[in-house]
Amino acid sequence: MTAKRSVREVLTSPKIGSEVRIEAWVRTKRDSKAGLTFLELNDGSYFQNLQIVVSATLPNYATEIPKLHVGASVRVLGTEAQSQGGKQSVEIQALEVALVGACDPAVYPIGKQKMTYEYLRDFTHLRSRTNTFSAIARVRNVLAMAIHGFFQERGFLWLHTPVITGNDAEGAGQMFRVTTLDVAKPPRAEDGSVDFSQDFFGQGANLTVSGQLEAEAYACSMGAVYTFGPTFRAENSNTSRHLAEFWMVEPEVAFADLDDNARLAEDFLKHLLRTVLEKCPLEMEFFKQRVEPGILDLLNSVLENPFKRLTYTEAVEILIKSGEKFKYKVEWGIDLQSEHERYLTEQVFKAPVILTDYPKGIKAFYMKMNPDGKTVRAMDVLVPGIGEIIGGAQREDDIELLKGRIAEMGLHAGPLDWYLDLRRFGSVPHAGFGLGFERLVQFVTGMGNIRDVIPFPRTPGHIKI
Ligand code: ATP
Ligand code: MN
Repeated sequence: MTAKRSVREVLTSPKIGSEVRIEAWVRTKRDSKAGLTFLELNDGSYFQNLQIVVSATLPNYATEIPKLHVGASVRVLGTEAQSQGGKQSVEIQALEVALVGACDPAVYPIGKQKMTYEYLRDFTHLRSRTNTFSAIARVRNVLAMAIHGFFQERGFLWLHTPVITGNDAEGAGQMFRVTTLDVAKPPRAEDGSVDFSQDFFGQGANLTVSGQLEAEAYACSMGAVYTFGPTFRAENSNTSRHLAEFWMVEPEVAFADLDDNARLAEDFLKHLLRTVLEKCPLEMEFFKQRVEPGILDLLNSVLENPFKRLTYTEAVEILIKSGEKFKYKVEWGIDLQSEHERYLTEQVFKAPVILTDYPKGIKAFYMKMNPDGKTVRAMDVLVPGIGEIIGGAQREDDIELLKGRIAEMGLHAGPLDWYLDLRRFGSVPHAGFGLGFERLVQFVTGMGNIRDVIPFPRTPGHIKI
């Protein structure tokens, strides 16, 4: 059988004159008066479609070609030829066209007409057949590999942290419970509460909200590690940047402080942007034309300039002095809202901003205390269009201070004893951060809603597929 080539292979390294087999889906079909039919095929490998020229002289032209509609799958045998039209350099002169699976245009929900992102959210299983969603899928793939490439080149170990966790004190967000108990009739303790000691694990269990604590354990022996996997938050936030299931990248580095952490975050983000601009030029041009006109300028300016660094306290002063009317009033001690973060990065600095040294009251128990006793060595990276894209910290490595924080915040010390061991035995300054993968994809593509940058989004009230 003639060798198969992908649309990408044919368009990027043509072999003019050679025979080829293409297996793909019909994106458009056009009949010309000259007894020719033009098919544009796409197989997901490349942004552009491959044009197939079908002559009416083909034996099955009259029987088969009328059955080819948008969405149908086809197998084409043909010859690679220099294209006559201006749009692309190569086309296929068909020798044989076979319909593999028909697609009835009367009921196919993915038409040629402009469909809104909202409409397509009802067809998550079909939306990757559109230019926008196939481009996003390829960008996601390139970003995922760039993440591994960045860390692997620097000697980081990819650590697989558990999805089901017995930790309930991570404090990063509301958790989903994992149970095999009969929810209609769970066993009860004497006080009437559900008796989770009879549950599958002999105790309560949840889906992880972060792999950080486990990553710390491995950083404190392997030096530098990162996790990259699914993360779950049961928070009822119906926003354009929150999902109930998302992917998070969490590097954790021993013998590192907050400065090292901030530098790593900046190098990391820049590496990811550079890689996408280099590997996905057609997708990025499409996002510029159809999604966000300023996207290429933004990404290039982020690449060329150092991130702005300032403390939370300095940021609060700037926000208060700005005279801007915010929905949530700014005062020292508040958790900055998206509107504040975006004002800083979009209006004040017009660049990514790394805010450090947050009030201890709004941050997790494990963050390293500053000498002022009021702030901790936390950092958030804020980017235009999104706000917070990364959250991180230097971790408390002093066991007494850490015990103090656990008590002060009213957390149960028992389940965290293993975590204290990391400070008991060869404690070391260490730091890390979490990057929300979908927020990164939003930032890179300019897509406004996080539901559109993950293949099958889970949000409150929505989990169809
Ligand atoms: P936010 O304040 O924006 O809700 P967070 O402070 O709760 O985020 P962290 O616990 O710091 O988030 O998580 C690290 C990173 O994971 C965030 O900077 C963000 O990029 C991403 N992230 C957090 N929650 C979500 C979510 N529900 N959906 C998608 N990404 C998220
Ligand atoms: Mn955060």
